[in-house]
Amino acid sequence: RSKEGAERLYQFYTPEMHAHSVERLGIETELRRAIERGQLEVHYQAKAKSCGTITGAEALLRWTHPVFGRVPPTQFIPIAEENGLILTIGAWVLQQVCRQMVQWKQDGLAPVKIAVNLSAHQLHQADLAERIQAMVGEYGVDPFLLELEVTESAVMSHAERAIATLEALHRAGFSVAIDDFGTGYSSLSYLKKFPVDTLKIDRSFVHDIDVNPASSEIVAAIVALSHSLKLTVVAEGVETAAQLACLNAIGCDLIQGYHFARPVDPAGFADCLRLGRLPGGLPAVGVS
Ligand code: C2E
Ligand code: MG
Ligand code: MG
Ligand code: MG
Repeated sequence: RSKEGAERLYQFYTPEMHAHSVERLGIETELRRAIERGQLEVHYQAKAKSCGTITGAEALLRWTHPVFGRVPPTQFIPIAEENGLILTIGAWVLQQVCRQMVQWKQDGLAPVKIAVNLSAHQLHQADLAERIQAMVGEYGVDPFLLELEVTESAVMSHAERAIATLEALHRAGFSVAIDDFGTGYSSLSYLKKFPVDTLKIDRSFVHDIDVNPASSEIVAAIVALSHSLKLTVVAEGVETAAQLACLNAIGCDLIQGYHFARPVDPAGFADCLRLGRLPGGLPAVGVS
């Protein structure tokens, strides 16, 4: 930070900000120990077709602290991202996912694609592609069953390196999804700069899709764009049957959200996998 910037910060340093930084310091210190203390868990949120057939899941980190309680990822991931802890945490998440996939396979469950979120800091790691490949190699997990979710801003914050990494991973068989699509700069130029397999439509376009024509027009445009580029399109944050019906009418490929399933622990997701489908699906129409 520049000297001027530091002075400006100091100038506006209020008691509330002090309290905030103390709280933050607490979180930071505790987060460093969270892995070894067994406080972190990976939960899984199903992705499904409109009819409810499960096609995969997203791995989502959960932190339960004995005193703070459940700390939401939106609170601790940005801190881990800033202080670099996300590298350790991210590697741990990937390892947990690989272990889990091996376990589910041993339990006789049909394999589904699992998506893991990668943050900007991870994408800046020069050897990220090698690390990920080594991890799946160690567990014997098929790269085709792993998807990497990245945001446009995370890629663009260190574009050259991130793009090289994503290209290497794509060549190795992993798929790449753009998370929170439609937020950020949306220059779209990256759609031809690096390999993308999936667009995940941000939930800000989904939450009012059934009542706001602007949202449904934007989603329809994203779906059309995705399909003309041969990409899969997923809607995030689908909470109601009305939203699902709109997305189905527009032709969105996959649905993720509380309407079908909340993120659940591995045992809970294994139960879903045994059923193969989620309640609340629309009747499948025609051949499929
Ligand atoms: P994201 O990758 O966009 O994940 C989707 C978020 O939306 C998750 O929040 C999920 O629980 C939530 N969600 C899913 N369906 C619905 C719905 O119908 N309604 C609403 N209101 N929310 C829904 P979560 O688990 O709190 O995670 C927040 C963010 O934290 C994630 O956003 C991701 O950016 C980050 N994150 C979570 N786990 C990881 C991780 O293992 N690594 C990294 N780098 N980031 C992670
Ligand atoms: Mg995600
Ligand atoms: Mg998302
Ligand atoms: Mg999001």
